Amino acid sequence: MREHNGVFDLLIIGAGPGGLACAIEAEKHDLKYLVIEKGCLVNSVFRFPTNLILFSTPDLLEIGGVPFIISTKKPTRTDLLKYYRRVTEHFDLDIHLFEKVNSIVGERGSFEVETSERYYQAKYVVVAPGQYDNPNLMGIPGENLSKVSHYYTEAHPYFERKVAVIGGKNSAITLLCKIKLVNKEKSKTISYLQ
Ligand SMILES: Cc1cc2nc3c(=O)[nH]c(=O)nc-3n(C[C@H](O)[C@H](O)[C@H](O)COP(=O)(O)OP(=O)(O)OC[C@H]3O[C@@H](n4cnc5c(N)ncnc54)[C@H](O)[C@@H]3O)c2cc1C
Repeated sequence: MREHNGVFDLLIIGAGPGGLACAIEAEKHDLKYLVIEKGCLVNSVFRFPTNLILFSTPDLLEIGGVPFIISTKKPTRTDLLKYYRRVTEHFDLDIHLFEKVNSIVGERGSFEVETSERYYQAKYVVVAPGQYDNPNLMGIPGENLSKVSHYYTEAHPYFERKVAVIGGKNSAITLLCKIKLVNKEKSKTISYLQ
């Protein structure tokens, strides 16, 4: 654990692929930096569907020039998590996990960042929180009920349940097929085209 007193050159919000790529550059340029991540390392990737196979080939997902070598053509979510752990260790990146950034105030050259743990001062801030926490809401009644999910991880919980999948593009069709496999005849699965 490095010393975290004084003013940082750079604070990076979010330890997704974008935040990690920034941290690698900061490390290479010998900046005093810190990555602050509200969840685990690459938290968004961690929350992807459990058995996801990515559409990109590994060479397109590499960061920091670290080779991403796998035995298959396309990586799985598990391959990707392992890769980002390896990259983080390789560069010995300075990251605070499970610390949420609540506010950033200031201007170029002088920022104050408040997290769930403490305050930090930094000359510059990179904001890399991604989009995964912001699902496309439809603004319809019932959308906020506990039985409505905006994320999908596995089909198993939908066994013997009636499920409506809203959406008509690739992701909706893919998960509709997966849910159908566990549901058979007992439950209905419906898809609406947007
Ligand atoms: C199902 C799925 C499949 C995909 N497949 C591919 C693919 O095959 N190829 C491809 O190139 N892309 C793919 N993508 C897109 C890719 O995952 C994103 O482009 C990428 O994750 C974006 O990286 P990021 O670092 O900008 O954001 P994220 O990966 O979302 O990381 C942002 C991080 O910021 C953290 N954060 C957010 N708010 C705060 C806060 N207040 N304080 C601290 N931390 C915070 C989050 O927890 C998260 O870890 C896929 C996306 C999905 C959803």
